[in-house]
Amino acid sequence: MQAKTTCPYCGVGCGVTAELSEQDGCRTLTGVGGDPAHPASFGRLCVKGSALHETLGQHDRLRRARVDGLETELGQALDGVAERLAAIRCEHGSNAIAGYLSGQLLTEDYYIANKLFKGYLGTPHVDTNSRLCMASAVAAYKRAFGADAVPCNYEDLEEAELVVLSGSNLAWNHPVLFQRLRAAKSRNPLMRVVVIDPRVTDTCELADLFLPIAPGSDTRLFNGLLSYMAAKGRLDQRYLERHTRGSGEALAAAREDAPDIATVAHHCELDPERLETFYYWFASHLHVVTLFSQGINQSASGTDQCNAIINCHLAGGQIGLPGAGPFSITGQPNAMGGREVGGLANQLAAHMDYHTPGAIERVTRFWRTEHLTPTLPEAPGHKAMALIEAIERGEIKALWIMATNPLVSLPDSRRVRAALERCPLVIVSECMAHNDTLALADIVLPASSWAEKDGTVTNSERRISRQRGLLPPPGDACHDWQLMAGVARRMGFGEAFAHVHPAEIFDEHARLSGFENDPAAADWRIFDISGLAGLGREGYDALAPIQWPVNAAHPQGAARLFEEGRFVTGDGRARLVAVTSQPSVQQRTADAPLILNTGRIRDQWHTMTRTARAPRLMHHRPEPFIETHPEDASARGVVEGALARLHNGLGEYIGRVRLTTAQRRGEVFVPIHWNDRFASRARASELIAAVGDPLSGQPESKRGVVQLSPR
Ligand code: SF4
Repeated sequence: MQAKTTCPYCGVGCGVTAELSEQDGCRTLTGVGGDPAHPASFGRLCVKGSALHETLGQHDRLRRARVDGLETELGQALDGVAERLAAIRCEHGSNAIAGYLSGQLLTEDYYIANKLFKGYLGTPHVDTNSRLCMASAVAAYKRAFGADAVPCNYEDLEEAELVVLSGSNLAWNHPVLFQRLRAAKSRNPLMRVVVIDPRVTDTCELADLFLPIAPGSDTRLFNGLLSYMAAKGRLDQRYLERHTRGSGEALAAAREDAPDIATVAHHCELDPERLETFYYWFASHLHVVTLFSQGINQSASGTDQCNAIINCHLAGGQIGLPGAGPFSITGQPNAMGGREVGGLANQLAAHMDYHTPGAIERVTRFWRTEHLTPTLPEAPGHKAMALIEAIERGEIKALWIMATNPLVSLPDSRRVRAALERCPLVIVSECMAHNDTLALADIVLPASSWAEKDGTVTNSERRISRQRGLLPPPGDACHDWQLMAGVARRMGFGEAFAHVHPAEIFDEHARLSGFENDPAAADWRIFDISGLAGLGREGYDALAPIQWPVNAAHPQGAARLFEEGRFVTGDGRARLVAVTSQPSVQQRTADAPLILNTGRIRDQWHTMTRTARAPRLMHHRPEPFIETHPEDASARGVVEGALARLHNGLGEYIGRVRLTTAQRRGEVFVPIHWNDRFASRARASELIAAVGDPLSGQPESKRGVVQLSPR
């Protein structure tokens, strides 16, 4: 028996064909393959996706709830959650309650979380680990286009004349998209690829030009490009005049920041000739896609870096066309689905912000929360790192963490641990029996996992796909939306959380996206998926992948946005944003003379709770490592293959040394995956300061300062 579903790992969102067998009423997942009909992947899977059936970990699943360390019936645990939340709300107010969600949740889970926390508990403090992933791109898109709207799609990558990969190791982190790009390049020998990254990565295999940029200098690089385009008469004046505002200010800032190639080359530590080649290629092609990822987003200047890229595309009119546009690719499988329902602390619901005119009243009417006290919050809540600070201050008394392991993934993890230890109520919904954060939970709720969860996810090109429930959850495990609905019912909100199937939640989500929609308002139409309302269970089960918006104007979805040059700002014009380079507050010191870079490796996912279960996924990099330049190692008495120690005032990391000239001198790289579960002292987040972008709140996880010593 076969069933179609979607991979739960990266933001490519590949289609999966699952092989199922059934014996004595017991169903098992025996294998997976690529779904040839899925338009994101056309039958491809990477090594992680092709090992999905090996990582279910049935022997190590969380099957029972726990309250204060004691195993208990799920119903009693939900009673405990409801009673304790009600008590905290009564004594300290709604704002003492917070939720921390995950890009691993399905859109239906996210919708119920947003409705419960904001709509019914009345707290704005609901954020997500997607804050660590694409918050800077979101903030930049909003500044430029008036909305969090990714203009491009995967076909654009294939149709481009020039593809610029900036801060993205596509070969390891989005492998199927890399395969699509490689195939497109082999079909079109005229296509050029530029890779911009401090490290030589496997992505460089496709590079016609590689720029080993100094970390954190991307704003200057793209400001230099804007200056160059102006100097060479390559600005698309017609596009700028008709479709944008702010070009004068942006250009003035760019000229001041990056007046000429020599200045940019000096600050970005690049060869001037290579730099000029990049600028010439960008300026002389119309069909250019700049794909960017965590190397751009995870910075204290992440939003400005994104806007510097977007500025160049607007200035060249390289947007809204086949094979053109600034394309942020998300790290997680449903980072975008979470944004669709409002799962960021600065969002309200259905892509509406708190300051969107009439939004609070509209959502209140839709959710029928007028009678509640308090009703919907009126201002944004705490973003991820600010949530931790609010716990430290004693303001947040209850935190419900779902499908994520913040003790490993948030920066300055020792501080995160201390904060969670002092939080009076920590609730963790989790599918695996062991992770670092579970150990700090007062109440543990067993959740369903991939292959059991049933709902939708949205990938990096706005494509909504079905993730299908193929197996029953083990023990008492339930879907996250069911756990929340169980608590909601116990708190007296049963009528609003009476859904019995995810199709009903999706329907409500689709209806909210078009509720009281002004057909003339572009900022509504763009997120409107009301065309997917009323599918019923059958239609929902059969839902084929489709790209939002889906409405009367786009009944089959929309592959590309802004084709008419009309944006979702009040006047319909995009904004170029004046940005200038800002040095990171984290600079080398005598005690910490090396810049630390962190990232994923090819065959692992996040904190390895699933991928570590497949032996073949452990072969690629079997243990924590430190990549360092041979000269930096030699200067510190560190040798290839030995254990070494990275340390700073925040913590330490121990890993096996890998000497490589792919690493720039003065910089080191470590993977983000390992943690206490592997009895290793190799938690990268321990070395990362809780510094973030002031606009997006995204942590600067790509940068730390450390010392390297022999073990
Ligand atoms: Fe899964 Fe991403 Fe690999 Fe596709 S590329 S199979 S979505 S991990």
